Amino acid sequence: MIIILKPNAGKKDADEILNKIESLGLKPLYMPGVERTVIGALGDERKIGKLHLENNPAVDKINPILSPYKLVSRELYPKDTVVSIGKAKFGRGNFSVIAGPCAVESYDQFLKTALIIKESGVKCLRGGAFKPRTSPYSFQGLGIEGLKIMHQVSKETGLSTVTEVVEVKDVEAVEEYASAFQIGARNMQNFRLLTAVGQSKKPVILKRGIAASIKELLLAAEYIVSEGNPNVILCERGIRTFEQATRNTLDLNAVPYIKLKSHLPIIVDPSHGTGIRELVAPMSKAAIACGADGLIIETHFNPKAALSDGQQSLFPEQFNNLMAEIKPFIQSSNKKLI
Ligand code: PEP
Ligand code: MN
Repeated sequence: MIIILKPNAGKKDADEILNKIESLGLKPLYMPGVERTVIGALGDERKIGKLHLENNPAVDKINPILSPYKLVSRELYPKDTVVSIGKAKFGRGNFSVIAGPCAVESYDQFLKTALIIKESGVKCLRGGAFKPRTSPYSFQGLGIEGLKIMHQVSKETGLSTVTEVVEVKDVEAVEEYASAFQIGARNMQNFRLLTAVGQSKKPVILKRGIAASIKELLLAAEYIVSEGNPNVILCERGIRTFEQATRNTLDLNAVPYIKLKSHLPIIVDPSHGTGIRELVAPMSKAAIACGADGLIIETHFNPKAALSDGQQSLFPEQFNNLMAEIKPFIQSSNKKLI
């Protein structure tokens, strides 16, 4: 519920209402504005019904929050949120690219790839240390060793880093070694994991589940934000459909739809969205045209030797070309490439 106070209402009036909200076991939100103060009450609908603020002389209007997600909705926060990962910035006109290999394979592989992306102006490096693989016989990632390589390469290059966390027990280690968490598609509804990263202050890239609706994605983000971490970047990475020609179907509808409903930044992953390296550049441009705040791209200094997702990883030259080709699209979307 959103409670809009009268222009002449004071801090004492606001405190009284905030205390009442808290005493009912609801979550109070205090949003003082230039002209008026807005208060939010979140939680169990039945308790919200017990607030009875209709006759409070300091209250001007009471509006229910109609969307099932609250903190991530534009109803509560109309202005775009900006999330930073090191020097990279996403949202409110800021556009950044995250790039790197699917997995951290070795110090040499990770550093070589990092230097290629840095050369193209990219500020944020990706790479999985814990890889959730379809087959138990596929490369599972280097684990903690991969995190240490990531940390070392970050120190040497000045790039910030993003890596996937797949288990609650690894949250602390990922927090120590990386600049941001990635919650992968397969874990989008791992509510314990969402809660754990919500208790951290580091940014979270939340990828859409392979069969998740947009509403489910936004409710998953609500789990993180409601734990106190507002730094969530949503990521459209393609969904499972009847189409077999591409690895996934990149649902670009999600981008402008999410922009209508949520203030959180949204980035697009055309690598997993298509599974085919030749489709990465055209779908990157399409993503920018429909309003994405950034891209996450798989690239490798030698994709033919990649231990995972080589077929969708860009060759260094393709990556350089992509970075040059997307610039006019970013400009015409009135965004700034950071
Ligand atoms: C990845 O980014 O390498 C990855 C496994 O992504 P997703 O969770 O979207 O499949
Ligand atoms: Mn991958």
